[in-house]
Amino acid sequence: SGKFFVGGNWKCNGTKDSISKLITELNSSTLESDVDVVVAPPFVYIDQVKNSLTDRIEIAAQNSWTGKGGAFTGEISVEQLKDIGCKWVVLGHSERRHIIGENDQFIGKKAAYALSEGLGVIACIGELLEEREAGKTFDVCFQQLKAYAVPSWDKIVIAYEPVWAIGTGKVATPEQAQEVHVAIRDWLSKNVSAEVASKTRIIYGGSVNGGNCAELAKQEDIDGFLVGGASLKGPEFATIINSVT
Ligand code: 13P
Repeated sequence: SGKFFVGGNWKCNGTKDSISKLITELNSSTLESDVDVVVAPPFVYIDQVKNSLTDRIEIAAQNSWTGKGGAFTGEISVEQLKDIGCKWVVLGHSERRHIIGENDQFIGKKAAYALSEGLGVIACIGELLEEREAGKTFDVCFQQLKAYAVPSWDKIVIAYEPVWAIGTGKVATPEQAQEVHVAIRDWLSKNVSAEVASKTRIIYGGSVNGGNCAELAKQEDIDGFLVGGASLKGPEFATIINSVT
């Protein structure tokens, strides 16, 4: 449902030189026109990317503050992100939940503020391996979804990223991903509206690469990808973008 959406989450990777090379690769790639493409560089390189990457690709930040800027050392405000040309922000990523310790309430607050200021939000959710093994996958995902108590779902893309699949090379099978995407759509239908359920893009993340993207993209409810490691390689990221079906 909706236009295919592929995001590249560069995480805390890159140097001016490696990013310049990646930009050159992306600028020379042929990308399917019917796909929204977004990359999320580290904050300090956003300006470099904005100045040299093709306008075909939009820019996301990897985090944002919960409200207006001010005396919040080390934080970056939504207003500042908009000022330098970001259109999106990635929130609720499992690395921020489980390594940095962000909770649902904090993430929900950031999402509501970013949306109220007109940024698009790539809202991440996903279960830990032990939660999956305990049969709690849906409960965990619904709990995290519910915490995005946002005023409007117009500019949200939901990224389902099972934590056990992130950076592990253990991609979810197309069936495993499809099953959770259907459950998420169902949750939206019951808790928000049928319209939001059918319009909202639900993308998959976790060890997506050039070799496994095509099978995943064929699934009815997989509307795109959030890509980590493979988004640092221009040609492979282009392959993933072009896996749209
Ligand atoms: P990998 O593609 O490296 O597994 O990372 C996925 C991810 O966390 C994207 O946000």
